[in-house]
Amino acid sequence: MYDVIIIGAGPAGISAGLYTKRANKKTLIIYQDFANVRNATKIDNYYGFENGITGEELYQRGIKQAINLGIEMLKEEVLKISFSNNAFLIHTTNNQIQSKAVIIAVGNQKKQPNIEGLSNFEGKGVSYCAICDGFFYRNKNVAVIGSGTYAISEVNDLLNIVNNITILTNGDKAPDFRADNVNVISKPIKLVKGNNRVEEIEFDDNSSIKTDGIFIAQGVAGVTDLSKKLGLIVEKNSIVTNENMETNIPGIYACGDATGGLLQISKAVYEGTKAGLSAIKYLNNNRR
Ligand SMILES: Cc1cc2nc3c(=O)[nH]c(=O)nc-3n(C[C@H](O)[C@H](O)[C@H](O)COP(=O)(O)OP(=O)(O)OC[C@H]3O[C@@H](n4cnc5c(N)ncnc54)[C@H](O)[C@@H]3O)c2cc1C
Repeated sequence: MYDVIIIGAGPAGISAGLYTKRANKKTLIIYQDFANVRNATKIDNYYGFENGITGEELYQRGIKQAINLGIEMLKEEVLKISFSNNAFLIHTTNNQIQSKAVIIAVGNQKKQPNIEGLSNFEGKGVSYCAICDGFFYRNKNVAVIGSGTYAISEVNDLLNIVNNITILTNGDKAPDFRADNVNVISKPIKLVKGNNRVEEIEFDDNSSIKTDGIFIAQGVAGVTDLSKKLGLIVEKNSIVTNENMETNIPGIYACGDATGGLLQISKAVYEGTKAGLSAIKYLNNNRR
């Protein structure tokens, strides 16, 4: 069991880890290759780099700094966070790992696929969380947009609830997944139609399918996906925290781009520091 698991190795996650590890808390950082900071070609507005620094170099330096300090690092995709046996359980592609506290530092990647009509139906048949909303579609036919590991984990959460699932890869390679009530369409999607609710999905070749609902599961699990399953309050795709980076669930903290507001490295570092310190305080107050 870890004292704290940090999801994300960008400026926010690494900063949190530097504090928890130095306070002797058993710390694991789980991360992926992508990060917003890696997309910054040159950073000229962050303290201490007189000639600027590329985002890529800053990202790699942060990871090295964490490793040098003895922080355990795991490169895997986090699919879900749950709570069981008095601990948080982090579900990754290959593992389920227990922790007393969790810091969410996943950045904020835009996940809404660019499909005409889709945004008109949010809350009217378009959902971002199978485990939260699947129940509303029992015995109905739904579509899941996505093709990666996260999409398959959403399909698995829907399998025993809905009647039929169509995985829509929107032109991407079909996943290697088989089940009786699941079929896959790999054609690019043109538009989503309906009256008051989603009713139909039309493809680029003008063919179409009828559906009762659409679950968006494109790419890797992000802020909304991870939060909604756990019951964290999310507003405008950002996790809501107080000034100590505490979420509405004790023991869970969020920092960096995941909390919205100013999307800058200095803010991510500050919030990571705060989240780390708050987690340390929580762990010290809840020793068992
Ligand atoms: C093009 C561009 C240029 C920018 N230029 C500047 C600049 O000049 N100055 C500045 O201050 N800011 C700049 N920014 C903003 C800055 O990059 C971000 O504010 C900062 O990176 C936020 O840090 P973060 O740690 O919150 O998120 P990120 O840097 O996005 O890191 C997120 C981490 O979470 C991991 N992760 C996400 N989901 C999962 C999952 N499901 N499972 C496992 N791991 C996961 C990722 O792999 C990554 O390690 C720029 C951003 C962009 C896109």
